[in-house]
Amino acid sequence: MSTFSAPKGTYDLLPPDSAIVLAVREALAAPARRAGYGYVETPGFEHTELFSRGVGESTDIVTKEMYTLTTRGGTHLALRPEGTASVLRAVLQANLHRAGNLPAKLWYSGTYYRYERPQAGRYRHFSQVGAEAVGAEDPALDAELIILAADAFASLGLTGVRLLLNTLGDRECRPAYRAALQDFLRGLDLDADTRARVEINPLRVLDDKRESVRRQLAEAPRLRDHLCQACKAYHEQVRELLTAEGVAFTDDDRLVRGLDYYTRTTFEFVHDGLGSQSAVGGGGRYDGLSELIGGPPLPSVGWALGVDRTVLALRAEGVEPPVPATVEVFAVPLGSEARRVLFGLVTALRRAGVATDLAYGERGVKSAMRSANRSGARFAVVAGERDLAEGVAQLKDLESGEQSPVPLASLVEEVRGRLAPPV
Ligand code: ATP
Ligand code: MG
Repeated sequence: MSTFSAPKGTYDLLPPDSAIVLAVREALAAPARRAGYGYVETPGFEHTELFSRGVGESTDIVTKEMYTLTTRGGTHLALRPEGTASVLRAVLQANLHRAGNLPAKLWYSGTYYRYERPQAGRYRHFSQVGAEAVGAEDPALDAELIILAADAFASLGLTGVRLLLNTLGDRECRPAYRAALQDFLRGLDLDADTRARVEINPLRVLDDKRESVRRQLAEAPRLRDHLCQACKAYHEQVRELLTAEGVAFTDDDRLVRGLDYYTRTTFEFVHDGLGSQSAVGGGGRYDGLSELIGGPPLPSVGWALGVDRTVLALRAEGVEPPVPATVEVFAVPLGSEARRVLFGLVTALRRAGVATDLAYGERGVKSAMRSANRSGARFAVVAGERDLAEGVAQLKDLESGEQSPVPLASLVEEVRGRLAPPV
């Protein structure tokens, strides 16, 4: 039988690249943690209906991209295609919204599944870090989340991330705009699929990437001409807060999320080094979502940042995020007695907080030293029978090549002292 390979649209993470992915996840989440967001973890699958309602029957995610299954017991489940619906479901289920103290601020990190056409930056299994602030309407909250995401990208050393910003109006002003847009779109020359979309989800047509459609949209009615006073004022405050904190953005009134539960602030972070998969993150307000999944009105705002694409953006900019050294010390025993003694020493070093590895298997000194050099360790500890007889091991600085005997009894302290940054 031939060997297996990972399914189409998926990839494995292995060292050394996996360390970069961990560093990226950590960096994307850190600003939210510092802003009072608590960690939330939800199941990898949910009732399919949560997503068909919460993401929307008319979206590509629900119509084409969901991995669904029926259990032996007859329950319809779907692998999660995104995080927001699950997080809101969890908040409602735990009654967090009744405990007072709103907004409930939550962050998450996980893998998501969409049956997409795989290409660079677009996978069937991918990673997001997300943050949601549930149960409050305040332009400062929208601005806070946008700033946290911008700071997260900046903390990785990325300089090419741009922020696109828009407002989608609310229940007051959106319906009239939607109707005006539909009137306009019905007069265009569109294919059957797009005509159907005009009826269910007309705002999404504004997002159509095809030139034949784009050309016809130049004269489409603009949402900004239909915004109510409250939406205008709200958006102006978000823009002012971002500007005051030095977060640059581009107003983009083509940036839409067509679903009715998306309201007001909407935004996307893009990177120009990623080809057509340019979005590294996105989010916005979803004041109507809670009611759609059976909850009370709970105005909320959030984002999800793509870990895979952020890694690609780092690569495109040639930026390497700092990753912790895997090992600092590598032990090379020569002979069976040395293997026993160094095994004990390695354990003691690890317990003292020093990342340490050992040359396993009965190998010659050359091959073992090669492993020591490849490990990235700063020091090698080498010991043979003669060293043991004298109660020492050789401590070799792998950068300078200098080597000196150190008594076994004081080796842990010696190594710790030499690794500590000079004060
Ligand atoms: P796109 O327009 O690129 O399909 P989206 O609108 O479907 O993105 P969201 O649902 O807002 O994306 O997800 C947030 C982020 O997750 C995206 O900005 C992107 O970085 C990442 N992402 C979404 N789908 C994928 C995927 N299939 N593979 C890798 N990353 C993805
Ligand atoms: Mg998509």
